[in-house]
This record gives sequence, C-alpha cells and structure tokens, in this order.
Amino acid sequence: MTKRMIVGVDIGGTTIKIALLDPNGEIITKTQIPTPVSEGEDAIIGKMTNTIDQLMAEQGFTKEEAYGIGIGVPGPVDTDTGFVYEAVNLGIKDTALKAKTEALTGLPTYVENDANAAALGEMWRGAGQGTDNLVAITLGTGIGGGIIIDGKIVHGVKGVGGEIGHVTVNPDGPLCNCGKKGCMERYGSATAIILGIETAAKEGRSAYLAKQLAEKGSLTAKDAFDAAAEGDLVAQEVIDQAAFYTGFGLSHIANLLNPAKIVIGGGVSAAGDALFSLIRKSFDTYTWKIAADSCEILPATLGNDAGVIGAGWLVKQGESK
Ligand SMILES: [Zn+2]
Repeated sequence: MTKRMIVGVDIGGTTIKIALLDPNGEIITKTQIPTPVSEGEDAIIGKMTNTIDQLMAEQGFTKEEAYGIGIGVPGPVDTDTGFVYEAVNLGIKDTALKAKTEALTGLPTYVENDANAAALGEMWRGAGQGTDNLVAITLGTGIGGGIIIDGKIVHGVKGVGGEIGHVTVNPDGPLCNCGKKGCMERYGSATAIILGIETAAKEGRSAYLAKQLAEKGSLTAKDAFDAAAEGDLVAQEVIDQAAFYTGFGLSHIANLLNPAKIVIGGGVSAAGDALFSLIRKSFDTYTWKIAADSCEILPATLGNDAGVIGAGWLVKQGESK
C-alpha cells in the first residue's frame, strides 16, 4: 500500500497535540488531549500512541499508509537516538521516547526539541518558506528558539543549541531560571512584560495600570500593549525595554549567522507592528549593515500548529535520507 500520511505530535506540559498531515505538510485532521504529567512517561507515551491509533482509524488510514511519527518535546533531545535528556514540564528525564514509541506503534519515529520543531514548521509551511537559513523565536512564558542553517537545525553536543532566550543581553540584569543574569528572556518574554507592568502598578508609578490590576487581579502582556496604546507611558517604557533587548539579542544571532529571516511567534508577537517596529530599530542599530539589510523580521504564521507540522517535517526528512 502506498504511503500517504505523516503523524505530527507536539507534547507540551498541558496538552499533547496530534495531527495527521499529507506529504506536503497540509493538516488532514488534528486533535489534542491533556498531558498526563503526574502519571509518568509510560502514561504519556501510551495515551499519545492510543490517540494516534484512534485518529488514524477515524480517518481510515492503515499503519502501512503512514510514513512515520515526528514528535516535538519541551527539552533537550538526542535526535539520533530519540532520547530525551530532560523535559522539566513533562516531569520526564532520560526517556527513550523514540524506542518506546516505535515499540508501541511499529512506525519509524523521529524526536526533536519543540522549539526546533516549530522552527522547521515555519520553514516548511509558514513565514519561513523560501529560505533554509532562518531563526525562529517564540515570545511566550519564556523565549524558545530554533536555528536552521542550510535546512538543518543547530543542536550542539547536548541538544542545547538554539536556546536564544538565554543569550545575555545585560550582564547586570535580573536573575534567570537558568541560573545566569540578564538573559533576553528576562526582558522579552510575556512573563517579563507582565512583571514589568505589575510592578509599576504596585509601586504606584501608573494610576492606569494600578486600576487595571485592581479590577482584574492579574495582568497579561496584551494589557501592556493596550495600556501603551491608551497613552500610558510606563507601559510603553516596559514595551520599549522588552523590544530593545529582544532586538539587541537578535542582533548577535544575525551577526553570527546572517539568516535570511527571523520569524517571531508566541503570544507577545500578536502585538504586531507596535512590537516589531521597535525590535527592528534596535536590531538595525546593533547588526552589521549587510546582515541587517539581508534579514527580514516577520511574524510567525502557523500559530499552535507550527510544532505538529515541523514534527511532520522530521519524518519527511528522515524518509529522504
Ligand atoms: Zn537564562
């Protein structure tokens, strides 16, 4: 029977997203289930493979028609062996994800870090189309990143390559979860923006933000952009700082790698030009002109589907080897 379908999976700390894709990366159908984090790795893998079986049966696909399974996970991975060193949000460590999934499904399985998978997804079907030299970052709770050079993800020796969120942008900056000071993620992530406006509200530096905080109990990154649009100078200052350090951090990446595109996704990127124009300004200030002029900075276009589509790309690439 001819092969005509790829399985793409994105395992996150809250949900496992599963999609069936055609060989061009078009989603045929998709679903998601809660990640059973407290039940351990075998439950996570078992529920994932059961759901894959179900989805294939619903769509009338046999195992013989599937090229294989691609999986993105939130942590460093050995992509040759499909071994997950650690995924803190999944509560798993030293997990033979590829071997276990292949044993349960009989399908060839490919494993990649989730941010790298999202970058591959954007290259294949999203804002990164047309180049194989690109960098993708996600501005969310933290800052995830993926670097693609000549069509290949940069992994490094322990799978930590592409962790752009932990580029130091201020040696005297605040402490990061990674143990260092002044990481880009401490300025450009949603978490950092929220901390900035909530602190300003509590310290009484902005009556507008203080009122918002009192009404809502907590604030979001969108509240910062809304407040700035209303003319709140303190919120604008927090956004200016977030964009400055993000552009500054990205300038180092561009000076090193000279990518054709930097694709920015995640919740914060929804702010659009109010954010992108400021990032661009800072980026242009610190990037060598040739590298700056040859680099587009674009919003990601695949949203939450980037991970499953990029996971599918792993399978396609594996097939062509
Ligand atoms: Zn860090």
